[in-house]
Amino acid sequence: MKIVIVGGGAAGATAAQFARKQDRKVDITVFEGTGYPQYSRCGLPYALSGKIPSFDSLVEFSTEWFQRNRINLHLNTRVTGIDTNRKSVETEGPNGKKETEYDSLIFATGASATVLNIQGIQKNNYPRKGVFLFRGMDDAKTLRKWCDERTRTVVIIGSSLVGLECAESLHELGHEVTIVKRRESVLQRMIDNDMADPLITAMKNAGIELRTICSIEAVLGEEAVQGIRIRRKEDDGVEEIACDTILLGTGQAPNSSLAEKVGCDLSERGHIKVDSRCETSVKGVFAVGDCSAYKDIVTGRESPAFTGTMAVKMGKVAGINASGGEAELPDGFLKTRVTKLFGLEIAAVGPISSELSESDLKFVQSRVKGSTLPTYYPGGKELLVKIVASLEDGKLLSCQVVGEEGCALRATAIGGMILGGLRAEDLAMLETAYAPPVAPTVDVLAAAAEGILIKLRRSRS
Ligand SMILES: Cc1cc2nc3c(=O)[nH]c(=O)nc-3n(C[C@H](O)[C@H](O)[C@H](O)COP(=O)(O)OP(=O)(O)OC[C@H]3O[C@@H](n4cnc5c(N)ncnc54)[C@H](O)[C@@H]3O)c2cc1C
Repeated sequence: MKIVIVGGGAAGATAAQFARKQDRKVDITVFEGTGYPQYSRCGLPYALSGKIPSFDSLVEFSTEWFQRNRINLHLNTRVTGIDTNRKSVETEGPNGKKETEYDSLIFATGASATVLNIQGIQKNNYPRKGVFLFRGMDDAKTLRKWCDERTRTVVIIGSSLVGLECAESLHELGHEVTIVKRRESVLQRMIDNDMADPLITAMKNAGIELRTICSIEAVLGEEAVQGIRIRRKEDDGVEEIACDTILLGTGQAPNSSLAEKVGCDLSERGHIKVDSRCETSVKGVFAVGDCSAYKDIVTGRESPAFTGTMAVKMGKVAGINASGGEAELPDGFLKTRVTKLFGLEIAAVGPISSELSESDLKFVQSRVKGSTLPTYYPGGKELLVKIVASLEDGKLLSCQVVGEEGCALRATAIGGMILGGLRAEDLAMLETAYAPPVAPTVDVLAAAAEGILIKLRRSRS
């Protein structure tokens, strides 16, 4: 039995790990296009800022780990073609072209940062000097080296999670940071606009310049980047912002062209569709992590995998199945996510409101402020919470929490309740742990659930 895994990131390495755990004899080969064994991409912004002292410490599955587990890891080796009839992949690596046969194939090809089509941003089909992407180790090292040369004036285009984490890191390193974006809020794929105010305030207080609702017309400068030209939507005014560095934080696109060529069905946004076994529409071919899409547990619609957690869960399931075992994902992604920016934890689970609006679900939401501790006990931190539930039966659909601490575990707890099909009334009655120095008698989540119950009662009367 031979398993070939294309891509050695979080999803691919985990697939190899669980394929090996499942079967001690199966032949496992991982082809990785870069020179790095599996490392934490999530740690890159913190290695950029120096909080994590060395880029090398981000490596989680070293080449020695692969050797110990008898997994053939080929670095600097790209899979360039696949013949599903002969069940073989064609690779190009340090020793030239090669063919390798497989019984099961796993796509773990991840995603690539997208380059916007803005006048002057590219040179020779590649972002010009002074323009940076931030997806992998080399991107992060190059940006760090560039910023170490002197204090930079940085414009970050977009406010994705990656863009904002880099904004914080570059700011901590002493660079001047401006964020420019088309829409009115930040982190818009992670939280609703009405949950972003504490973050926007924290960013501004830290000294980050935020320019929203404007389009970027051009990158200025002949050789070196000298600035950008923006057009404000509110008054159609044109403005130039001086900068010597541009970071694109506008999102990523799945690497799914190889899968498409072998006939795997793709989602609307180009991700490889998989079932609960992580199998694609082509039998014996699996896909995992950022290149793939699976069902959203709440809306039932296709959702791209976009977190390290999803990548690892999918890697585990595909690895076990590819080596002859039986494993399944839950009935959909919860999309549990968190980050910490400018002193605030921002956590969420389930779809944001715009995704719910696009689905057939009718829903009610309750947004409340509370504290991590009882009001009489010193040191409590403010929490802003939003709970969303089904208008039809009160089932919990999603939750967002923003505050200095205690957000991630609250979102995770609601994730468990969504998975269990529990309702707002169950949350309102949830017996939460209480002691004055630790937590209040009525948790802010339960308070938000009470708000839902009132709205549900009103809607039925
Ligand atoms: C800066 C940053 C911060 C993040 N922070 C978080 C976080 O805090 N929490 C969280 O849950 N998620 C976070 N994520 C997302 C998380 O890192 C990804 O979901 C996860 O890395 C996806 O793993 P993957 O294996 O699917 O893809 P990748 O890690 O992208 O790995 C894919 C690999 O496939 C290789 N490859 C592609 N095509 C080929 C080919 N043809 N031949 C050979 N090799 C190929 C690529 O070189 C790459 O190494 C972050 C991502 C970034 C970029």
